[in-house]
Amino acid sequence: MKLGWGSKKFTLVIIPDANRSVRQFEMLNSIPYIAATAVFVLILVTLVLFFFQGRTAVIADQLKVKIDSQELVYTHTVEDKNETIEQLQNEVIKLSQQTSEMKARIDDIRKMEDEVRSITGSTKIVAAAEGTNTLDSAMGGISHPATNNDVNELLSQTKTQLSDMDLELAALQQSITDTKHKALAIKEQLRVTPNIWPVDSHRITSGFGLRQDPFTRRPSFHSGYDISAPANSEVSVTADGIVRITGSDSERGNHIVVDHSNGLQTMYMHLNKILVQKNDSVQKGQLIGLVGSTGRSTGYHLHYEVLQNGVSVDPLPYLK
Ligand SMILES: [Zn+2]
Repeated sequence: MKLGWGSKKFTLVIIPDANRSVRQFEMLNSIPYIAATAVFVLILVTLVLFFFQGRTAVIADQLKVKIDSQELVYTHTVEDKNETIEQLQNEVIKLSQQTSEMKARIDDIRKMEDEVRSITGSTKIVAAAEGTNTLDSAMGGISHPATNNDVNELLSQTKTQLSDMDLELAALQQSITDTKHKALAIKEQLRVTPNIWPVDSHRITSGFGLRQDPFTRRPSFHSGYDISAPANSEVSVTADGIVRITGSDSERGNHIVVDHSNGLQTMYMHLNKILVQKNDSVQKGQLIGLVGSTGRSTGYHLHYEVLQNGVSVDPLPYLK
C-alpha cells in the first residue's frame, strides 16, 4: 500500500556526546511544514503588530504635536485675553481719572456761573448731585496690583459719578439759561434806562432842586440839570426810546421829550437845533440835537431833565 504525505515520517536524531547513546524521534513529515507555517504566521503577526505599533506611535506623535500646538494657541489666547482685560482695566482707570477731571471743570464752571448769577441776581438752581463726593485725583503711594474687585469698584464709582454729572450738567444748563435770560433782561433794561451824559461836557451850572432864579432872583425850583457846553455841541439821547415831543416855546426854547420804559422820560431844552422828529425811534447815544441858548436861557447850555411818571426827579442817579 502506497503511503500519502500523511503517512511519511521524518526521523529526528539527537547525538548528545560520544559517551551517551544516540536518541532519535520519529515524526510525521507534515509537522515541519506546520511549524514553518506557524513561524511564518508568527513573523507576519509580529510584523503587523510592529507596523501598527509604528503607525500608532506616528499618530500619537501627531496628536501630541497637535495638542502641543493647540495648547500653545490656547496659551496665546489666554495671554491675549489677559492683556485685553488689563487694557480694559487701564481704560476704566483712565476713564475714571478723566471723569474726575471733568467733574472738577464742571465745578469751576458752576462757580463762575454762581458769580454771574450773583451779578444778575438770578435764582440759584440747585443741582441734584451737588455736594456729591468726588474721587480724589491726587496720585502717589505704593504700587499694588489692582484686583478685579478694585477695578469693578472703580467702574461702579465712575458710573455713579457720570450719572451725577449728567444731573448736574442738566441743572447747570438750566441755571445758565436762566442767568442768560436774566442778563438779557438786564441788558434790555439798561438799554431803555437813561445812564449816560447827554453831552460830552459834565460841567453842571445849576443842579436839581431849589435855587435862586437867574432871571427873577427869587427862590424857585429847578427841575433838572443845567450842563454848560459850547454852542452846537452834540446832544445825545440817554436811552432807547420814542421821541414824544419836538417843539419850541419861550420857556424851553427848542426842546425834545423822549419816552423810555417804566414811565421814564428825558427832556432836552434850549437847543439850537432839533435833529429828530416826533415818533422817531431813537437809540441810546444817538445824536438828537445841538446845544443852544433858545428860550429862557442866559447862555449856551443844555437843560437836561428826567421825569418819572410825569414828575421831575433828580437826574443824578441816571448819570453814569
Ligand atoms: Zn435848567
